[in-house]
Amino acid sequence: MATDPATVLQLPKPAWAGEDVGMLYEMATRFLADEIAPHYEEFEKNEIFDRESWRKAGAAGLLCASMPEEYGGSGGTYAHESAIIEAISHVGVDGFGIALHNSIVAPYILHYGSEEQKKKWLPRMAKGELIGAIAMTEPGAGSDLQGIKTRAEHDGNHYRISGSKTFITNGQLANLIIVVTKTDPTKGAKGTSLIVVEADEVEGFERGRNLDKIGLKSNDTSELFFNDVRVPTSNLLGHEAGQGFVQLMQQLPQERLQIAATAIASIERALALTIDYVKERKAFGKAVMEFQNTQFKLAELKTEATVGRVFYNDCVDRHVNGGGLDPVTASMAKYWLSELQGKVVDQCLQLFGGYGYMNEYPIARMFRDARVQRIYGGTNEIMKLLIARSL
Ligand SMILES: Cc1cc2nc3c(=O)[nH]c(=O)nc-3n(C[C@H](O)[C@H](O)[C@H](O)COP(=O)(O)OP(=O)(O)OC[C@H]3O[C@@H](n4cnc5c(N)ncnc54)[C@H](O)[C@@H]3O)c2cc1C
Repeated sequence: MATDPATVLQLPKPAWAGEDVGMLYEMATRFLADEIAPHYEEFEKNEIFDRESWRKAGAAGLLCASMPEEYGGSGGTYAHESAIIEAISHVGVDGFGIALHNSIVAPYILHYGSEEQKKKWLPRMAKGELIGAIAMTEPGAGSDLQGIKTRAEHDGNHYRISGSKTFITNGQLANLIIVVTKTDPTKGAKGTSLIVVEADEVEGFERGRNLDKIGLKSNDTSELFFNDVRVPTSNLLGHEAGQGFVQLMQQLPQERLQIAATAIASIERALALTIDYVKERKAFGKAVMEFQNTQFKLAELKTEATVGRVFYNDCVDRHVNGGGLDPVTASMAKYWLSELQGKVVDQCLQLFGGYGYMNEYPIARMFRDARVQRIYGGTNEIMKLLIARSL
């Protein structure tokens, strides 16, 4: 019988994973295995998901799980989002971009949107009619976000947005895009504002290439161009312009935690797949599991995975039940767990021998998908800078 990634570490359930979170995890796992996994090869080949999968996820209650019910969500917390993110990686459909939609884009609208904005956008996001993206990075500014050039000029009751963005997750499918802009280029960080562009409603918005990546193939990642795009001033997030940088900083702990969630769940899946494989595969007349090297390697990896899971659980507990997760600890979780993911997946792949290098084996895809975790959401070098600043 195959090893269940969710139980590979045999740890007791964490405090944050109450009964409803457990039920959501079970439901999400079943939905993803039945409705998404059978089409996943096709999405990987097409380098994009279909909209139907988003609508099905919405109908199944997997979109906006942590948004209040009055805005079409399920009234949960980040713990519920974590259950969904972990289910995605345990099932192995990591290219499904709903984690970013759920636990990054929707929270910006919930926390900084007006009542009217929340009522207008969140229920449609919960149904999968609107697909969310956040456009920060530009060709000339990634780590150094203060260097962005996209300009939003005030023009009566509109903003006119001009500039270009790149590497935007869900960039081909998204029709609700939070764009990081400069409303006042003379004011540095204080001149930064987040403005929502409803891509189906405006002129002057263009999608560039769906970028050719080494991993996460089925997740569309795109260039976006804003050529004098006019949006109403009511699309600004926050009561006044210039709040963008503060808003971005406030949401970073959850964004980093979400990357850590993918990391720990991928680590658990890699271990589960590898344990099954080495018990079956024979060399020199015995199972690969019987070599002391295999046993020691897996013992080391399982120990590190356990340390990682306990740390992740503590971070979630603080985020949802405690006084809040501080940005430094969130940076540690993103940095350390994504590095561990890279190491575990690589060393597990080694135990598959040549089969590990073949795309038909999931461990090969996991190896390719893992690499970006150390880059996006703030590179791990930037995480170390933030940690070092606190010393
Ligand atoms: C698949 C994918 C999906 C993405 N999704 C999104 C998205 O949805 N929205 C979005 O806005 N962005 C997204 N990004 C962009 C991502 O967040 C950036 O690529 C990342 O922040 C790094 O910026 P950069 O690529 O410009 O690298 P650079 O900033 O040019 O960095 C190059 C190198 O220099 C290092 N470096 C930079 N500054 C320092 C420093 N001060 N000290 C030490 N080292 C430093 C970096 O760590 C890196 O190793 C995505 C990227 C990828 C690959």
